[in-house]
Amino acid sequence: MSGARINVDGVDVSPDHFIDGRRVTSKRTFEDRSPLDWSWKLADIARGTALEAQLAVGAAVAAFPAWAALGVEGRAPYLERLADLIDEHVERIAHVECLDMAMLEDSLRRRVINRGARNFRAYAQLAREYSPRRWSSNGTDNEVLRHPAGATVVITPWNAPFMLSTWKCAPALAAGNTVILKPAEWSPLSCSMLMDLVEEADFPPGVFNLVQGFGEEVGAALVDDPRVRRISFTGSPETGRLIGEAAAKHLVPFTAELGGKGPFIVFADADLDAAAQKAAVMFDDAGQVCLAGTRLLVEASVFDDFVERFRDATSRHVLGDSRDAHTTISPLIHPEHFNRVKGFVDRARQHGDHVLLGGDEAAHEGLWYQPTVIEPRDNDSEVVQREIFGPVLTLQRFEDEAEAVRLANSTPYGLSAVIYTSSHDRATRVGSRVRAGTVWVNCFLVRDLTAPFGGIGISGVGREGGDYALDFYSDLTTLQIKEGTTHG
Ligand code: NAD
Repeated sequence: MSGARINVDGVDVSPDHFIDGRRVTSKRTFEDRSPLDWSWKLADIARGTALEAQLAVGAAVAAFPAWAALGVEGRAPYLERLADLIDEHVERIAHVECLDMAMLEDSLRRRVINRGARNFRAYAQLAREYSPRRWSSNGTDNEVLRHPAGATVVITPWNAPFMLSTWKCAPALAAGNTVILKPAEWSPLSCSMLMDLVEEADFPPGVFNLVQGFGEEVGAALVDDPRVRRISFTGSPETGRLIGEAAAKHLVPFTAELGGKGPFIVFADADLDAAAQKAAVMFDDAGQVCLAGTRLLVEASVFDDFVERFRDATSRHVLGDSRDAHTTISPLIHPEHFNRVKGFVDRARQHGDHVLLGGDEAAHEGLWYQPTVIEPRDNDSEVVQREIFGPVLTLQRFEDEAEAVRLANSTPYGLSAVIYTSSHDRATRVGSRVRAGTVWVNCFLVRDLTAPFGGIGISGVGREGGDYALDFYSDLTTLQIKEGTTHG
């Protein structure tokens, strides 16, 4: 059954699922509101249940053999057509995602949505370029074969939903798997727009499906389906554990890209202006960035100097409407999330932590939270140890390299780290001792799609990116042929 389409601020969007090549609606819906103005209802979205989960997995299972049989050369053109269509529609998708999750429209238009196109293009190319490992040992000639694994469930969070979803769906499809994507219920629209492009790119029905709805309902039903052969998840460590339990039940390989609490380490020999400017960037997207370096660790000898420059850099932030090019701080996604962020700061005050900057949740009417910096009473403070996922940073000092590394590694997370130093030796020394999936030195968010990506500790399980992703989405076979076996 297919439902009506809706008009979201002049853009035509479907509020429905996309299963087996067509729109499917549900009996019940849920409201999708804009963080820019919470009284603005954008859509009533189809609220998937176990029924839609079963339909979508069934479609993906049925479409799998033919999609897998196409081979890399047969599949790659679909991904490339989809990439071209994304590029054509960047403006519309950016606008809708801006209304839906309030990320800055300018940044969505210039760098985030077109990363979706890059994801599909890059994986079409990488899959084509695969050169299997071949070697001889123990009297046999050996080769590693990649086989498509099967129906794959991809579950994604509400921040940057289009980019994060395509990052996982692209390698899964390129590897020959069929996909069921479930985006987060707080920002469901841009992924629905992706399905219009999938249809336009003429993907065979059932190859790329979308179900909308709540995690505990349709998400849980998807990961509990024994027909699913891979699960790829991005979200919080709490949900990551549930996904892991479901994967364990059916012995299905899964990856989980989870939360972060990255250190941002500034050594005395760093370019302090550059470090302060970059530290102020950690407030971008209202701090709703898993990779952000949210714990500022500054060498004691330059602490005051750095803080002055950092205050200056932070004062340039402008809270406002995400559609406005002058705005640098958008609202938080949802009233529940606003209260969560505010709760951290309120509890920090009660705990005796010192709020150095910001902390005034009423600075702007609506869901905006001021850029806030907290000097914790000690390293055990909740604001140091738990991910806040808002524009709230902590500030601590260290005396020497050993203490910097100790503090950097003192939380259960390990997704990313940022280091500012002018010394290459120190960059290598400290960079190799900090426990994080990605360490950036004198830069931030520079992404090479072929690099392994993931987290250590509660920041994740497994790696995606480049061949790491293509291996994960494949079943690997080691083929061993006794030397001297004749050809023909
Ligand atoms: P979340 O864990 O609440 O939800 C993520 C997704 O899981 C949503 O689609 C949700 O509907 C679904 N879900 C919830 N319960 C489920 C269940 N029982 N079974 C199946 N699916 C379920 O996370 P969120 O609040 O949407 O996102 C914020 C979190 O994501 C933060 O911790 C952030 O750091 C993390 N994140 C990590 C990365 C990364 O690359 N490591 C990137 C972006 C966000």
